[in-house]
Amino acid sequence: MSEEIYLDHAATTQMWPEVKAAMEPYLTEKFGNASTAYDMGKEAKKALEEARGTIAGLLDAKSEEIFFTSGGSESDNWAIKSIAGEKKHIGRHIITSKVEHHAVLNSCRYLEELGYEVSYLDVDEYGVVDMEQLREELSPHTTLITVMYGNNEIGTVEPIADIGNLARQKGILFHTDAVQAVGQLPVSVRRLPIDLMSASGHKFHGPKGVGFLYVRGEVGIPSFIHGGGQETGKRAGTENIASIVGMAEALKLSCRKMQKNYQYLTRLRNYFVQRVLREIADVTYNGHPYMRLPGNVNFSFAGVDATALLVLLEEDNIRASAGSACNTGETRVSHVIEAIGVPKAYEAGTVRFTMGAENTVKQIDVTIRSLKRNVALLRGNPPEND
Ligand SMILES: *Cc1c(COP(=O)(O)O)cnc(C)c1O
Repeated sequence: MSEEIYLDHAATTQMWPEVKAAMEPYLTEKFGNASTAYDMGKEAKKALEEARGTIAGLLDAKSEEIFFTSGGSESDNWAIKSIAGEKKHIGRHIITSKVEHHAVLNSCRYLEELGYEVSYLDVDEYGVVDMEQLREELSPHTTLITVMYGNNEIGTVEPIADIGNLARQKGILFHTDAVQAVGQLPVSVRRLPIDLMSASGHKFHGPKGVGFLYVRGEVGIPSFIHGGGQETGKRAGTENIASIVGMAEALKLSCRKMQKNYQYLTRLRNYFVQRVLREIADVTYNGHPYMRLPGNVNFSFAGVDATALLVLLEEDNIRASAGSACNTGETRVSHVIEAIGVPKAYEAGTVRFTMGAENTVKQIDVTIRSLKRNVALLRGNPPEND
């Protein structure tokens, strides 16, 4: 058997052993409920607040601005639906982009069903939102702009500072889905004009089913889950202490390794891209050339069906994905690939490879060899000798 090659870090990442070790006591002997007054409860409460402090510190936030959730999807739903509801006396218009994650897009569609108006901004060929159009769409009824930090499919990093500054000038709140950015890029909510920000533990080597929403101190966000007084009464339910502790540990380690990993992954990405563009004909490299998440590579191969290519790659023990993972089973071309205008002959052959620090040059070489052989095969050409 050849080596397992995992190139789908944008879908999820493996939990680091240190994260598991940090969680373990809270899965077994330290099982206290943070809302109880005796020693075990206090121990859980202390772990919870330490994790909150760690995460806040790494993002230049204040502890009371971090609210734990069940992940990126919940954080997006909470931010968008709750702010839209809270501000509906001012207006019922929100602005987003055409390349958002479905957690954002479908929250917006839900609001449209309730009678809200939503503007979906176009992006250019690299996936960057149209700032001109954003200015034109602003109205006195606009209460929220939500644009993602880094795109999960094509890796493009959006001009968050420009969008946030414009929002601030106009007195409009700005939310960003930073699920792909947190842990990979230095994110400071003190330096950036962000009012609300979503993140998810399993995208930076933490556990699944846990995330957080950052809410700037001055922004009053309504409760999302009604019940007990957890998360200052805004998100009720007994806290998932083990996962929260694990997520804090994962973010701490991610930030510690960030600069080194960023440089390593950027080099690995450039190597991968240069070779594919040189050695395989009729392929587009999607996303921005450099305003981009370090480990993201996204190609469209003309005359190739992505689903078939993924099956062949998997036979070589290579795991990648077509469009976003949430679309598995659908043969539809992803909304992101549509939005950046990949030519028709290429669209259906879109495959995403997202690398992590444990991937090696040798693994990329194996992947390129497999791609060359299988793309040729699917194009009806005899496999090359390699
Ligand atoms: C993975 C992802 C989400 C969803 O996060 P979950 O924790 O899996 O709910 C949201 N937005 C983006 C950009 C993502 O990549």
